[in-house]
Amino acid sequence: MHEALRFSGEVICATISRIADKWFVSLSVKLESATASCENQAVVGVDLCIKSLATLSSGDVFEAPKPLKKSLKKLKRLQRGLCRRQKDSHNRYKLKQQIAKVHAKIVNIRQNSLHQLTNYLTKNFSNIAIEDLNVKGMLANKNLARAIADIGFYEFKRQLEYKSFLRGNYLLTVDKWFPSSKQCSNCGHKKTDLKLSERVYHCDSCGLERDRDLNAAFNLKNVLNTGSSSEINACRQDGSVTTCGSNQLG
Ligand SMILES: [Zn+2]
Repeated sequence: MHEALRFSGEVICATISRIADKWFVSLSVKLESATASCENQAVVGVDLCIKSLATLSSGDVFEAPKPLKKSLKKLKRLQRGLCRRQKDSHNRYKLKQQIAKVHAKIVNIRQNSLHQLTNYLTKNFSNIAIEDLNVKGMLANKNLARAIADIGFYEFKRQLEYKSFLRGNYLLTVDKWFPSSKQCSNCGHKKTDLKLSERVYHCDSCGLERDRDLNAAFNLKNVLNTGSSSEINACRQDGSVTTCGSNQLG
């Protein structure tokens, strides 16, 4: 094998798959011990957005690699070439392989950045709050659809859920109607209107000035700290994993 097994245990089954010009084998391994759990009690709020992948209430910002956006020119050029090639020709087959390779690379880059983020979160914070994004609704917006798909919000949530479950983290999914952007994370004052172009949150009540995404991340963290709000749909399941009251993702 090209890569050594990352887990030691009994191999239960193997699945062979092919992506572009590469062959892969996925092995299911029965682990002798459970995944190391997160030992601290740290709390974090995570704000997701299109501009940067995630802003954490700790102040960390994870940039989105947006691999599709970067490869779009190349993909379009290859697609145009495909139209000119004769059907069933060897050149057309070669070009198809090239396109499949570019797509595989895009998926790998996206997956890698999401794994890094979800590993960081579940290893360093035992209590995590995220917003319940209406991904299906956002994908219906033609202007946003490509950018949202390029970031992989749905995959982010999937990874965070299963890693939180394995490590015993508490993952809170806050209702999508919770005003995480419009509310002041210092005094709780709610703005009636907040334009997308306003990147810094300015509170008219207490005078707080904070980066817009950081303010939203703080609000999500505050929900975890206070643990009570009628606007929140969340509860614990066996002390570990998330429950989403109005989850639009599934
Ligand atoms: Zn305020």
